[in-house]
Amino acid sequence: MLQKLLVIDDSDPIHALLRVRLRDEPVEIFSAVDGLAGLELARQVSPDLILLDVDMPVTDGFTVCRELKRDSLTNSVPVIFLTGASSTDEKIRGLDAGAVDYITKPFDAAELRARVRAGLRTKFLLDLLSKKAMIDGLTGLWNRAHFDQRLATEISLAIRSVRPLSVIMADVDYFKRINDQFGHPCGDEVLRTIGQLLTESCRKEEVVCRYGGEEFGIIVPNSAAADAAGLAGRFNRVMASHEFTCRGTRTPLTCSFGVAELAGDRDCHIVERADQALYRAKQDGRNRVVTYDPDNVPATTVAAA
Ligand SMILES: [Mg+2]
Repeated sequence: MLQKLLVIDDSDPIHALLRVRLRDEPVEIFSAVDGLAGLELARQVSPDLILLDVDMPVTDGFTVCRELKRDSLTNSVPVIFLTGASSTDEKIRGLDAGAVDYITKPFDAAELRARVRAGLRTKFLLDLLSKKAMIDGLTGLWNRAHFDQRLATEISLAIRSVRPLSVIMADVDYFKRINDQFGHPCGDEVLRTIGQLLTESCRKEEVVCRYGGEEFGIIVPNSAAADAAGLAGRFNRVMASHEFTCRGTRTPLTCSFGVAELAGDRDCHIVERADQALYRAKQDGRNRVVTYDPDNVPATTVAAA
């Protein structure tokens, strides 16, 4: 996929020149001719790099840069200043405003390309790091941080588009016994296998996360609780037919599932309700799917594993 480059400069000839100089680079170029339009476009297209003219009327480059760094939508985008002056003072001001680099006009073509490539590389690595911070090291699934972030996004999407949204919380039954009997490496292997089975059982739009310990959270967009419960039931059957072995010993394993659906605007308790349903599933004998029912909440919210 092409990386996106946003050029903010008040001079049309500069835009034309940059397009020529960068035509062989694997970038898609977006152009804005003043600071405010540049800020707007930056929020819209989420560029991977911004080339920003220092000297512009009304809103100068320093102001634009500070604004970009203040906004959470744009603050991770590297900025390279385009400066007409070769004055050290202006370069320092630019770097202090949050830019990663500067290029002096008139451009040396080779230097321009090299600095653009370096800026794009920085963004690629930043994205990789932030993705890594969202991945569970043991199972390779998304982690709790991603679950929370993604759920907030999906909730606002569901509310805006008036579509249902469900969450499944799944917990491995008697998991502690695996660790006690066969050791933690076997327990880890079991979690990895379950993560893989879950992923294989889900559709692409469903988000499978390791919520913590032996608990998994699945975000099910566009689905009412009944459909999500159907998915959990399918997974329950996959678990039943999978031959788990720990140190050569056939070890049947089951999960308990709690399902809850988004209820109304500004719902922040969907996970809590799915958890309550999960506790109910544990109390009712495990190895089952329970959908949240306000008239049938468990007496205690401390689940037995
Ligand atoms: Mg200018």
